[in-house]
Amino acid sequence: MNLQALFGLDGRVALVSGASSGIGLHLAKTLAGAGAAVALAARRTDRLDAAVAELVAAGHRACAVPLDVTRSETIGPAFDAAESALGGGIGILVNNAGILYAGRFVDQDEAEVSRVLDTNLKGAFLVAQTAARRMARAGGGAIINVASTAGLRAAGFLSSYAASKAALIQLTRVMALELAGKGVRVNAVCPGNIETDMHQTFRDGGLEETLLKRIPQRRFGQPADLDGAVLLLASDAGRYMTGTAIPVDGGQTLSWM
Ligand code: NDP
Repeated sequence: MNLQALFGLDGRVALVSGASSGIGLHLAKTLAGAGAAVALAARRTDRLDAAVAELVAAGHRACAVPLDVTRSETIGPAFDAAESALGGGIGILVNNAGILYAGRFVDQDEAEVSRVLDTNLKGAFLVAQTAARRMARAGGGAIINVASTAGLRAAGFLSSYAASKAALIQLTRVMALELAGKGVRVNAVCPGNIETDMHQTFRDGGLEETLLKRIPQRRFGQPADLDGAVLLLASDAGRYMTGTAIPVDGGQTLSWM
């Protein structure tokens, strides 16, 4: 078996949203390492530029594109800029941009609800839609929505966030159904607690010990723990997979009782 042919991404062009930090930044490097040309997209372009410089110095093809998923007028231009800089159509989308709000349901004000849903759901929807239209025209592609275990189980203090991620999982399934005939595969990964800037909210809240007790593997995840699932879904290795939502969570979604 030729693992490089199965999991490799040579000649493929990818766009990662939310690539200025954490999971997105790491996954952009992973895709580049697997051979893809990668566009790193987010609002903090200084961070993207630094990451791209690092990737290019290491011999990879990469570019930075400004993207605010809550401003729909930035989405098409981000894809245009990426395709023009990398010289090919986006065939892989890691739809990763997202924000967290932690607090009681009764306390979350309207502006915060809008911020979370506009980013995690509407933003992800529109970015995926832009990618899907282009991929369908080009004859295929792979979309990976970064959801969350919060979209699979009920976790307190995460009402709007959990709702946005559950909706993203459902969106993944409908997209998969509608786009299968166009050669576009759509799947979701559902990370558990991954140690990124986002995780800092739980650390600041003194919740780490409680959270760890919920994880059978008794450790928090690292962005690199997502590599296997994402490479599987992005590459030919996952060619018969669409509409799935894969937990990568150290067993957090399991429960003894
Ligand atoms: P980070 O806060 O490190 O990264 C979030 C990324 O999203 C940043 O690059 C940020 O870039 C980008 N982003 C936020 N808002 C927007 C926007 N409006 N437009 C474009 N980009 C935006 O957190 P993580 O890496 O942990 O989170 C990445 C994804 O993983 C999120 O969708 C999150 O919900 C999900 N996830 C994370 C888990 C965890 O435990 N860490 C668990 C489960 C899911 P910028 O600010 O520069 O625009």
